[in-house]
Amino acid sequence: MLDAAKPNRPELPAEIARRRTFAIISHPDAGKTTLTEKFLLYGGAIQMAGQVRAKGEARRTRSDFMKMEQDRGISVSASAMSFDFGTYRFNLVDTPGHSDFSEDTYRTLTAVDAAVMVIDGAKGVESQTQKLFEVCRMRDLPILTFCNKMDRESRDTFEIIDEIQEMLAIHVTPASWPIGVGRDFLGCFDMLNNRLELMDRADRNKVAESIKMDGLDDPKLDDHVPAHLLEQLREEVEMARELLPALDADEVMAGQMTPIWFGSAINSFGVKELMDGIANYGPEPQPQSAEPRQISPDETKVSGFVFKVQANMDAKHRDRVAFVRMASGHFKRGMKLTHVRSKKPMAISNPVMFLASDRELAEEAWAGDIIGIPNHGQLRIGDTLTEGEALRVTGIPSFAPELLQGVRAGDPMKAKHLEKALMQFAEEGAAKVFKPNIGSGFIVGVVGQLQFEVLASRIEMEYGLPVRFEASQFTSARWVTGPKAQLDKLVEANKQHIGYDNDGDPVFLTRLQWDIDRVVRDYPELTLSATKELH
Ligand code: GDP
Repeated sequence: MLDAAKPNRPELPAEIARRRTFAIISHPDAGKTTLTEKFLLYGGAIQMAGQVRAKGEARRTRSDFMKMEQDRGISVSASAMSFDFGTYRFNLVDTPGHSDFSEDTYRTLTAVDAAVMVIDGAKGVESQTQKLFEVCRMRDLPILTFCNKMDRESRDTFEIIDEIQEMLAIHVTPASWPIGVGRDFLGCFDMLNNRLELMDRADRNKVAESIKMDGLDDPKLDDHVPAHLLEQLREEVEMARELLPALDADEVMAGQMTPIWFGSAINSFGVKELMDGIANYGPEPQPQSAEPRQISPDETKVSGFVFKVQANMDAKHRDRVAFVRMASGHFKRGMKLTHVRSKKPMAISNPVMFLASDRELAEEAWAGDIIGIPNHGQLRIGDTLTEGEALRVTGIPSFAPELLQGVRAGDPMKAKHLEKALMQFAEEGAAKVFKPNIGSGFIVGVVGQLQFEVLASRIEMEYGLPVRFEASQFTSARWVTGPKAQLDKLVEANKQHIGYDNDGDPVFLTRLQWDIDRVVRDYPELTLSATKELH
């Protein structure tokens, strides 16, 4: 049901209260691309559909993936998409689907207020879904679940719900209940609105037929649902109402309960109901944790933070786009904001927004929106922009890499160029780059093997530098903090283990867990950390 924006904090200006900023989390192949496409169709951004499709398919093979990386236009315009749904403005932030890019995904989730979890009805909760769910849990993000591909043979409805409850430790409440499975799948009974939703297999882009019912005993049901399926539906819904918790908006808001919709993205079925769910339980833009104080979206002063940087979108100009989540206020194009890290003013004259299929100038943006700010490298992940106040958004992590390799320029004369390229990728968040305390060259850290290949290809393409990655004796890195005297002592005694990241912060490069244990034992005042707050 689409009603006017229902603010849970009534003081929010209507423009902010109608915004829903969310991401989709799923395991590859569950149907994220298809669902995104349907969101955009309902949002009136029809031209976009092909583009999303191109992206989903490009990801399938490694070489195609490289091609997609070359074609920055596609991946960028899909990084954040805004579209209207009824009286609401949806901002869908794309999470990179490949597990190798999980760190980028984690950071993306810092920019949203909710997540839609898509699972495949035949496969249930898969590994990547679980990993992403854990990140949402760390932030208590509200999660709405869409169980996709119900037009195919899928698991028993109770079994799917049980699996989610067990594997993810979250209460599940059915927002809809499927009628029939596989080829017999007819549609759903909308448990929130007492409606029968019938799927149209003939027209994949058609909104389901929706018939208002007066409960499950409504005789109208007999006209549309064969007797055996109707009997099963009544039994199952009765059991579900007995065994499963009823929808509690506060619990959803706290990330302790997820409503589940059943549907088939490819048949556009269940999508509108899910979108209504996002509108109703979304939620609206939430306060942002920051130091020295939290930022509330309704503050009149504008603030925002960078959660993603994408470089070299245009090979001819070395421009970068910093993706900024607006945390408060009403931004207008041309505003001068303070870049808190450098304390310098920045005139934001060419902000872009990704409305429908086009990247266009953002004349204005409200708390909850995502804008892209082209810049020459001043803006880094974790940076805060304000109207002057020294606020620093917190909670945007950088994770210790899980794979390390040394890297050298194919031509030793080009070492300086390589350093520049690496620093840029480090700032973009595409890799960790450490300068070892002794020796030449750099150590590059990533989360997944594929990232080395993507990096090598981007350095060659964007900087014309052939590079060689080579094995490193190190396997991981920890950021070291603590009293200077202890830190100096550690550096002095472990020269070959020390490196510096692109901010100049020291890291301890490790081979084995034993290395870490040793430092913890010998230097009790130092802290070794697998994550670093970016700011
Ligand atoms: P992603 O990897 O999560 O983005 O998944 P895609 O949206 O690319 O979908 C993966 C595959 O599942 C594609 O071949 C889709 O056509 C197919 N698919 C998506 N939704 C449905 C659905 O509701 N039913 C069926 N049968 N297939 C679907």
